[in-house]
Amino acid sequence: MKIIAVGLNYKEHVVEMGLAVPEEPVFFLMPETSILPKKQPFYYPEFSKKVQYEVELVVKINRLGKYIEEKFAHRYYDEIGVGIDFTARDIQNDLMKKGLPWEKSKAFDGSAPVGKFIKKENLPPVNNIVFHLEQNGKIVQAGNSGSMIFSIDKIISYVSQFFTLKIGDIIFTGTPVGVGDIQIGDALKAYIGDQELLSVDIK
Ligand code: MG
Repeated sequence: MKIIAVGLNYKEHVVEMGLAVPEEPVFFLMPETSILPKKQPFYYPEFSKKVQYEVELVVKINRLGKYIEEKFAHRYYDEIGVGIDFTARDIQNDLMKKGLPWEKSKAFDGSAPVGKFIKKENLPPVNNIVFHLEQNGKIVQAGNSGSMIFSIDKIISYVSQFFTLKIGDIIFTGTPVGVGDIQIGDALKAYIGDQELLSVDIK
């Protein structure tokens, strides 16, 4: 199983990062060890002083595919959920400055909690899914899949030109504006609509 994570997929988030809007999807891979086991807390890693949350819609691939045409991409997933792409921002900024890969800041153990999935038929249309993140009961990020620069179907089509997608692969589809720091003791909860799908305590 592999995890594909799209970066810079919401315009206002690209602006808050001080970067240029990408012309093609930007993505990186995470190993399966980056999945935070269910119900386990996230332990603040010792190697960073600035870990940030990024709430994202996540898509689970349910068919093997390569060179998937965008118009057929909807056939390759039937469940959507939410995840948090925890990012050691201090390390990422340093790596970006040096033009180095991001994985150390993005793909470390437990950096990718993934919540419960919902069947597509029980969700609004894929281009109009609202989701949000609460930090200690306060909404800190809110997004709508309709604001993605590259749609879920476009991402699947694009990524599959390079990587065979397999059953069970997970795609993080990018975070909306409002990324922020986590602190030890925080309680994070992520929702699609008003359904809580993911809860993570920071220790
Ligand atoms: Mg992200």
